[in-house]
Amino acid sequence: MDETITSRRTVLRAGAAGAVAVAGLTACSKGGGTGTTAAGSGTTAVATASTTSSSASSAPSASTAATTPARAADWTALAKDLDGLLIRPGDSRYDSARHLFQPQYDSLQPSGVAYVAGAHDVATCLAFARRHGVPVAARSGGHSYGGWSSGSGLVLDVGKLGSVSASGGSATVGAGARLIDVYTGLAGRGVTIPAGSCPTVGVTGLTLGGGVGVTGRAYGLTCDNLSSAEVVTADGQIRTASASSNPDLFWALRGGGGGNFGVVTSLSFRTRPAAQCAYGFLSWPWSKAAAVIRAWQAWAPSAPDALWADLHLLVWADGRTQLGTTVNYLGPQSELSNQVDRLAVTPSSVSLHTRSYLETMQVMGGVSGWSQAASHLAGSLPGQNPSGRVTRESYGAKSDVFTRPLSEAGAEALVAAINRYPRTGPAGGSAGVAFDALGGAINRVGAADTAFVHRDGLFMAQYTANYPDGVVGGNGADRSWSWLTGVWSAMRPYSSGQAYQNYIDPHLTGWEQAYYGSNAARLRSVKRTYDPGGMFHFPQSVPLG
Ligand SMILES: Cc1cc2nc3c(=O)[nH]c(=O)nc-3n(C[C@H](O)[C@H](O)[C@H](O)COP(=O)(O)OP(=O)(O)OC[C@H]3O[C@@H](n4cnc5c(N)ncnc54)[C@H](O)[C@@H]3O)c2cc1C
Repeated sequence: MDETITSRRTVLRAGAAGAVAVAGLTACSKGGGTGTTAAGSGTTAVATASTTSSSASSAPSASTAATTPARAADWTALAKDLDGLLIRPGDSRYDSARHLFQPQYDSLQPSGVAYVAGAHDVATCLAFARRHGVPVAARSGGHSYGGWSSGSGLVLDVGKLGSVSASGGSATVGAGARLIDVYTGLAGRGVTIPAGSCPTVGVTGLTLGGGVGVTGRAYGLTCDNLSSAEVVTADGQIRTASASSNPDLFWALRGGGGGNFGVVTSLSFRTRPAAQCAYGFLSWPWSKAAAVIRAWQAWAPSAPDALWADLHLLVWADGRTQLGTTVNYLGPQSELSNQVDRLAVTPSSVSLHTRSYLETMQVMGGVSGWSQAASHLAGSLPGQNPSGRVTRESYGAKSDVFTRPLSEAGAEALVAAINRYPRTGPAGGSAGVAFDALGGAINRVGAADTAFVHRDGLFMAQYTANYPDGVVGGNGADRSWSWLTGVWSAMRPYSSGQAYQNYIDPHLTGWEQAYYGSNAARLRSVKRTYDPGGMFHFPQSVPLG
């Protein structure tokens, strides 16, 4: 199979475009099939919600305190006070500055986007926000599924803080580094951290919500490898969060979700060896889908830690389907081949390869053969690159953590729900379901040891519906979400009820329990300590109490 069509992100794009074949199931996807899209009604609803106070918490937003509204002169003064860059409406760079990864949120019009130059700039912005009652949102890679790294107020973008360095088993990463920058910067030192696949995802959003990736079963989640973080809290204090300094905040930052407790400006991680990888792609005919689900779930979650796999079931509005799994192995290709032989349903095609760690991550991210510069969104603002080739995409997604294998009836129900997409989804759209294997090092951490509670999962499912090209809402989005709700509902009898906080789901009711489970009460307590006024607030932010 052609490596250029094997990444998860490629599949997503291809799904929307109706090209590519099975090969492509790699990691940059939100699990499922295709890629792009997001919710029609969801789009509108979410964008609106992100600019207002949440109904989920009684916390006041920054704008509800006794304040004086910000005048133009106040914004001008703020710009002068910053070492970084403030972009306001009217600036020719404003549209590029306000856009998130998903075009469905292009309607959001923040009052300003501050590209902070460091923690002191963050403190200056927070003081301004407090003084003038301006809502704030922290932004790293801008990939929030709910669009909650933007809004109507002041966006604190950490994209200028993108440095990556490593020595002595530790890496220090600026909060605005994109994953491609992390992988590339660390590869030069022969080390890595376990992280996700999409090259443009921000390291901070990923880490704060957990961080699932192709080396997770061997090395744990991204947050499991965090050793400390620099955070500016709502009171403007610049704090270190680590095992010995603000340990409760450190606990919450490891899985408690982005945008809840302060603005992170720097992260330190324990590093891991960036050894050569074997990886590959296996496929089957669609007619075997239910049997393959059963075989895969009996295989991947209990395989040696060095193995990671994600199963993709993809569908297009025109009726095409694809069934395959990506595999990644931290060891020789011969051992990966032996592992593949243990799958109870023999694949109709197997394509295995061996590459350096960095090249493997590029394949998984859909940027095989691309330069680091090209593996960004295009633009000249921090976090972008003039040579960037990554394109923005809109989609809707829901997730489940499965702690028990799907029964035969469950596997058949899932396939039946996917088969409904060509009849019910929007013309030109695509959709899919992806299972990411869990277990291994991820499950050797206790549920209460970090805020990431999902430590008993066999695999995580992500249901994805990609909007047709150019669709950012309306009927095309509504139909996508109807399908998502249908496939997710079909899985209620079989799932644990847990959902992944990094696949934040604007349509999910009971989200606090689903994301945080038995850690929810402690997270509320940490929120009360570090953000008692609810300055960091969005529709699914950790409530105050
Ligand atoms: C194409 C794609 C591929 C993905 N692949 C994976 C994957 O392989 N593995 C995985 O686990 N997840 C994956 N995800 C999900 C991803 O982890 C989340 O969407 C994550 O929140 C994105 O972080 P971000 O910094 O890019 O987004 P942002 O939108 O910038 O931030 C997400 C949240 O974190 C907050 N935040 C951002 N910066 C800061 C900061 N400096 N301080 C405090 N809070 C902050 C924001 O306010 C927001 O609430 C993927 C998402 C997409 C769109």
